[in-house]
Amino acid sequence: MKKNTIALCPILNDDIFLSAAHDKAMRQLRSPHQNERPTGINVDLIVLHAISLPPGQFESNHIENLFMGCLDCAAHADFESLNGLEVSAHFVVDRAGEITQFVGCDQRAWHAGLSEWEGRSGCNDFAIGIEMVGDEERPFTPAQYRETARLCRVLMQRYPLLDAGRIVGHEDIAPGRKWDPGKQWQWDRFHRSLQRIRRLNLELL
Ligand SMILES: [Zn+2]
Repeated sequence: MKKNTIALCPILNDDIFLSAAHDKAMRQLRSPHQNERPTGINVDLIVLHAISLPPGQFESNHIENLFMGCLDCAAHADFESLNGLEVSAHFVVDRAGEITQFVGCDQRAWHAGLSEWEGRSGCNDFAIGIEMVGDEERPFTPAQYRETARLCRVLMQRYPLLDAGRIVGHEDIAPGRKWDPGKQWQWDRFHRSLQRIRRLNLELL
């Protein structure tokens, strides 16, 4: 998917919407990489991903810029292949467990690519995409387990078709093509976090 990039950078404070009424404020941006879900489609899948840009680097705003359509692809040799790439996820969970929302949940984000789940292809149509900052080398942080679980529980409240069994990895819906969230993501630990979460106080778009 290529197109003229919408000039949204630098990201201005005016573009940032905080759910200030809640004690768990979430940073919210609007990615240009989104469109409508097909009519009559219900959200019934959560896809967990892992991402780092450049690979192995966790502390940068490159992921945010990629999803906002304004990554400087000349900034790093590894970014060349990303030139013109239009991708996004509904949410990014950073290493501190801070969550940024890029696409409203009822909209379609562009995270899954060629994919299939239970015989249905094009998982972006019916899935929520959550990117966790990480790689296959270092463990995900306790805050990421906790806050990703909190986010999933809030989504399960909003979309009744979702349940713990309908949270999958990108590698599950695009086997052989995608590795993430990969071997560092401990699904058992995540499912325990899902059960333990009590405060469901995130306000989502
Ligand atoms: Zn992925």
